Amino acid sequence: MTKIAKTWCLIGLIAAVCTGFLLAIFTQQPTLQETVQTQDITPSVEHEQGKKHLPFLRLNPPAHLLDDAVLTQPDDANKPVFDRYTVVERKARKLPLTLPEIPPFYGEKVVYLTLDDGPYVHTDIILDILKEQHVPATFFVLGVQVEKYPAILKRIYEEGHAIGNHTYNHAYREVYKSPADYLNQLQRTDELIQKIIGVRPRITRAPGGTVGHFNQKYWQAIKDNGYVDIGWNINADDASKATASQIIANVCYQMGNRALWNRAIILLHDGPSQTETFKALPVIIQYLKKEGFQFRVVDLRTPPAW
Ligand SMILES: [Zn+2]
Repeated sequence: MTKIAKTWCLIGLIAAVCTGFLLAIFTQQPTLQETVQTQDITPSVEHEQGKKHLPFLRLNPPAHLLDDAVLTQPDDANKPVFDRYTVVERKARKLPLTLPEIPPFYGEKVVYLTLDDGPYVHTDIILDILKEQHVPATFFVLGVQVEKYPAILKRIYEEGHAIGNHTYNHAYREVYKSPADYLNQLQRTDELIQKIIGVRPRITRAPGGTVGHFNQKYWQAIKDNGYVDIGWNINADDASKATASQIIANVCYQMGNRALWNRAIILLHDGPSQTETFKALPVIIQYLKKEGFQFRVVDLRTPPAW
């Protein structure tokens, strides 16, 4: 059997396992919507007149860009949000730093795929899956990885996915030494990202989550500097030794909680040994499409996970 045939057999097997699992979960619940929704992640044209400092962004930015004064985003689009300026640049230009109160977006059935700890050389596999499935995702990247794989970061951006800041090196002892150290890690990563794609994210995710790591001073520090921390409410648990079918089962089981359907934020990983994630991801996407979920990128309107 060829490698491709084996892969498809495996995907088929996983799909069968997932379907059985889902039937077990959902037979207790009201009929689920069968419609399949896909997202068009084709970038739309945005005029960039007079933005001479970032000429290549005139081409076709697949994102909303926060500008000098504009700190909000349109309500009707599913595009990631980036900032033209780093915190340091905003301060130097005396531009607003903090974000205004933006009403959260709650849909009927909304899902956010989030992938942490990349980019890695294998992120291309994830990007190929997302392209094939026509769904967007959000990548919370590390500065150290961005330095190693700038071309992959560029591909993530150009294909319309959101990018979040996951600190520079993820080392708890350094990241959580103090709020100032945390901010330094974010700002260092922002600068690396901006050098590659010309813009930097406003969304961040604390390594290991904020629980047990953040106190009020950390929350105040990120708010004062205009960052938004994004948690998760569905844990695929794929950073462990879980097999693809376990990862699928983890997601399917937790998606049984209807209270999360208006903002299901799934935590997955984009690391060096995510072969099981690669196998699980297409099945998870197919399942969510079949259940009628809309795939969105994390933006400034993404509601709190909990
Ligand atoms: Zn992480």
